[in-house]
Amino acid sequence: MKGLIFNIIRYAINDGPGIRVTFFMKGCPLSCWWCHNPEGISPNIEEVERIDKIGDREFRIKETVGKYYTVNELLDVAMRDFVFIEESGGGVTFSGGEPLLQVDFLVEALNTFKSEGIHTAVDTSGYASVSAIDAVIPFTDLFLFDIKHLDPLKHKKYTGVSNNLILKNFDYIITKGKKVIIRIPVIPGFNDDPDHLKALRDFVLGKQGVNIERIDLLPFHRSGVAKYRKLSLEDKMKGVEQPSTTRMDELKKYFFESGINVKVSG
Ligand code: SF4
Repeated sequence: MKGLIFNIIRYAINDGPGIRVTFFMKGCPLSCWWCHNPEGISPNIEEVERIDKIGDREFRIKETVGKYYTVNELLDVAMRDFVFIEESGGGVTFSGGEPLLQVDFLVEALNTFKSEGIHTAVDTSGYASVSAIDAVIPFTDLFLFDIKHLDPLKHKKYTGVSNNLILKNFDYIITKGKKVIIRIPVIPGFNDDPDHLKALRDFVLGKQGVNIERIDLLPFHRSGVAKYRKLSLEDKMKGVEQPSTTRMDELKKYFFESGINVKVSG
């Protein structure tokens, strides 16, 4: 069996504990306005054109996004960094896109890494069938679970889907006793107003005591802008500024002072 991957990052330090290898799996049922990896949304291999400039000259270079890998090929990649992974208490993370869209491949991959004694994490939007979640639970040490907005209508407007299934799956995973880090993208004008921050805080506090390790606040950034051009996609976040370090520190303090373990992540 093969899985479609659009990026592999070695020495990743923000996708779970220690030093990790992160595999980005292609295909996502959401289409968030701020997505930093829009090349991961389509479930198919895509041909795109990159424009490189040298002086006044423009060079158009064809690029293929997405490549099929076997599980053994992924294992080979991770094993190159095994010493660092082991010494740092790291592992591998499956991200995307939405890794649960390729659930059969994901199960095989997680099972293989677990058999090698390697810590496994799944970074998910939470928008998946319960059967997909059930299939990966036995082989997943940690879920990185995105909570983007608690209001279903706002969630639908900005991501393309309601959050009903996501919140249901979140509860399902924690009742199964799995460790979870909640990831909250901090998107100015979308989810960072005082009322929603309070709602988020109350949501997290309401779940405490059930294996929630931490919340990670992920500041919006514009590093994906060039990708939108490359994929001929509309940049709906045009003109939105990245939250400042001071703002992120304020938000961190807000959650921390309520007794929540919180980190500002990359
Ligand atoms: S869930 Fe993640 S990968 Fe999918 S569209 Fe949203 S930000 Fe992009």
